[in-house]
Formats: sequence, structure tokens, C-alpha cells
Amino acid sequence: MAAPWEDVLRDPAAIREAAAAAVDWALLEGVLMRTEGQPNASDVVNYAPFTLLPSAVPSALFEQAYAVQQDFNLLVDAISQNKEFLERTLASTIKVDEFTARLFRIHMQVLEEGLAQSVFLGINRSDYMFDCGVDGTPALKQIEINTIAASFGGLTSRTVAVHGRVLKVLGKSKEASRLLPNNPSRGLALGIAKAWELYGSPSAVVMFLVEEVQRNIFDQRCVENELWNRNIRVIRKRFRDVFEKGSLDDAKRLYMDGQEVAVVYYREGYVPKNYDQQNWEARLLLERSRAVKCPDIATQLAGTKKVQQELSRPGTLERLLPGRAEAVARIRATFAGLYSLDVGEEGDKMAAAAIADPDRFVLKPQREGGGNNLYGEELRQVLLKIKDSPERTSYILMDKIKPQPALNYLLRAHSPLQVSQCISELGIFGVYVRQGEEMVMNKAAGHLLRTKAIEHADGGVAAGVAVLDTPYLV
Ligand code: ADP
Ligand code: MG
Repeated sequence: MAAPWEDVLRDPAAIREAAAAAVDWALLEGVLMRTEGQPNASDVVNYAPFTLLPSAVPSALFEQAYAVQQDFNLLVDAISQNKEFLERTLASTIKVDEFTARLFRIHMQVLEEGLAQSVFLGINRSDYMFDCGVDGTPALKQIEINTIAASFGGLTSRTVAVHGRVLKVLGKSKEASRLLPNNPSRGLALGIAKAWELYGSPSAVVMFLVEEVQRNIFDQRCVENELWNRNIRVIRKRFRDVFEKGSLDDAKRLYMDGQEVAVVYYREGYVPKNYDQQNWEARLLLERSRAVKCPDIATQLAGTKKVQQELSRPGTLERLLPGRAEAVARIRATFAGLYSLDVGEEGDKMAAAAIADPDRFVLKPQREGGGNNLYGEELRQVLLKIKDSPERTSYILMDKIKPQPALNYLLRAHSPLQVSQCISELGIFGVYVRQGEEMVMNKAAGHLLRTKAIEHADGGVAAGVAVLDTPYLV
């Protein structure tokens, strides 16, 4: 899987020069993030971390990931509409995980009241690593699917130009011309625009629901720009604003400050720390409304690790996607081993297996955003402690994916330039819109490649571990 620039990696002077220029190009192209010190002001900004060089990605696996994305869109949508499946699958988890339980209670309450929403918009990102088999052949294995606040669809569109120029400077013009254009934010915006149009109120706005701390605002602005270009008004609000100024009318139309909201696009609300009591109330208000939520709460629940584990059971995909044997086969081919730790014989067996051989597995709680999973000795210690307690049901076990590392330089503000052994994670963005029963849009919208040094078992770009990258197909 080696990229054709092993030679330049051994030329420190050329690397230093290219790295300095790469940072300028990143700033010029808008690969930007606010700083940790001033996360809510744009007076001082920095570049979002990125690799100096593109990383090699096997083209067959890249195509496979694109080819299965519409299937995953259908699957997530089917799960979100299957009350019994969500109820059964999450029953053990919600007994021990208060965050999932709270989301689930809102889900049930909204269903009991009757859904006011009739247009549904899903934006997800299915993430993969390239697992290196015993014979060295890489295979596409899904890490997870993110059904809420999947980020970097904006900034990733801007790394292609940066990496293209780096390759040219290093004398690799032919390779530079082979980098694929990529603009997920446009596809995401097309989905939002379609949902806005189907909502059917031309004066209504799109509301981006954003976090208190907004370091990644430029990524969101990329999507926002695409909407303004289509003459769709966008407002940015926090849960706190919704609590203070949001209201529903008799038809459950959502208003913010007297302005009707057609679509709520969540870039917030995926981890417990996003919520206090008022924010939970704001979330409930949004879910009860007629506005198109991206995602609605059922779709957020469809993205939990527990659901992912349940999907890998024989027969589950077939029941969720009846009559779609080919889609089922494409989806299943991407699954790594996933195991329940529910109380019972099966859970006992897997807990014992992981304690005996922790390096084979990853232990995952029902959390998003990176930095929550457990590996190796830590995994073993935690399992030893909770193996006889129901607490273990708040986790799932997954086979550890072992990709082949490659050398690259990770460029990060205020960090020394040094070569690292790296592994990459490929994400494909999916977008779909459903009106009532009818799918009116179902697309793959682009990709994201993130790369990290192998010393870090866990963590994404926002967590400060991975950096943005561009795939170079081999
Ligand atoms: P999160 O919701 O926190 O992003 P993920 O399941 O994506 O949770 O895991 C976070 C990170 O941990 C991934 O980006 C990847 O680097 C690593 N990781 C997760 N699952 C595995 C696995 N099965 N094998 C190897 N690494 C994994
Ligand atoms: Mg992840």
C-alpha cells in the first residue's frame, strides 16, 4: 500500500521547506480552526491539523466504501422507524446508561404524542479502517457510523488543493493530478436544501444547533455557505437560545424569536456534557416540533454502539432490510466482529475472552467524540472490575482492526516536525431525505480521510489525535 514518495521522506531539507509552505497553503485554502485559547472568536485562528502528504488508500476498498453508502443510508433510516427494534436492542443498555436512557425517553414520548415531522433528513458518516489480514491483504472494516453531528465535511474539501501543491513542490506533479476532488459540504447542503424545500415554507430558516464552544466553526460555515448560495437563510443557535426563545404553535411549527424554522441541523447534543436540565428541555421541544431534525432522536439512537453490535447478529440485517439481499451482503462484508456484554452466558464468555487476550479487542461505551474506548491492559482492568456487574452492559466489545502503518508527517500548530508511523480512517458521508414513506434522495456525498500516529489507540481530529488527510488511490 506504499505511496510513490518514499524517496522524499528521506530528504529532510525538502520536507522542511514543503511543510512550511503547506501551512501557508492550508491557511490560504481555509483549512481553519479557532484556537483552544479563544474558541469563540475568529480574531486569531490557526490551521486545522493535517498530514504533509496524502496517504495511500487501496482503490478497491475506497470504491467498496462508496458502493455501500446508500445501503447504510437505507439501514439507518429503517432502524429509526423500527420502534420495536430500538426498544428491544437498547433495553439492557438504558438500564445502566443514563444518557442513552434519556434520549430513549424523549424518543418514546414523541412517538406517543404522534410525530409532527413528516420530512426526514439523515446526514451520516460511515467510518472504516483497512484491516490487514494474515496474508497482508487489506480489508474494509467499519469502525462505526455517526448519525449525529458528523463533522469535517467542509474542511476536508480544502485539503485536496493543499496536498496537490505539496506534491508538486516535491516534484510529484503526475501524482498531484491524480488526487480526487471532494466536496462533502456541498452534498450535505443539497440534502438540507431538499428538506427545507419539502418542508414547504419559503420564509422559514435552517437552524444550525451549535455547541457553546465553537472551535470548528469554519467546517460548519462551509455547509452554511452552500445554503446561502441557494438563498436559504441560516441561523446559528445553542440549546440555551432554544430554551429561552424557542416555541411551538398549535400546529407544532417551531419558532425562534418569531422566525419559523424548517430544518434543525445538529452539530451538538451527542454527548452528556452537551446537556443540562434546560438543554434537555430544549431538545424535547425541538423533537416535538414539525421541523425537520437532522437527525431526529430515533436516528441518533440508531447510531449507538449497542445498535451497531446488534446489527452484526445473524438475521438482523435481513429483518431490517427485507428483500434487499444484495444490500445486506454489501453491508455485512464491512462488519468486524462485534460482541454483546449483556448479562448471560454469551456475555460471560466474551468478557472472559477479552480478559484473557485484551489486545484482540476494543471495549466501547455508548459515547461519541473520541477518547472513550478502552484498549489493552486498561480494557482488562475495567472488565475485571465490572465483569460480574450489570454495568458491563453499558459497553460492547469489538475486534480490534489492525491496519498496516505508513510513514507521514503530522502538521499541527506549535508541534515539532517529525516523521510518524501512521494509520488512517476513511469516512464516507451519506445523505438522504424521506418524505412520508418515499425516499426522495439517497446519496454518498464525499469522503474524509483522517490519519493518526500509531501510538494513539483512540481519538479523532476534534480530540486532538487524528489530522486531516487526502486519499491517494493505489
Ligand atoms: P467515537 O464515537 O468516539 O468516534 P469510535 O468507535 O469511532 O468512537 O472509536 C474512536 C477511535 O478509536 C476510532 O477513530 C479509531 O481510531 C479507534 N477504534 C475504534 N474502534 C476500533 C477498532 N475496532 N479497532 C481499532 N481501532 C478502533
Ligand atoms: Mg468515531
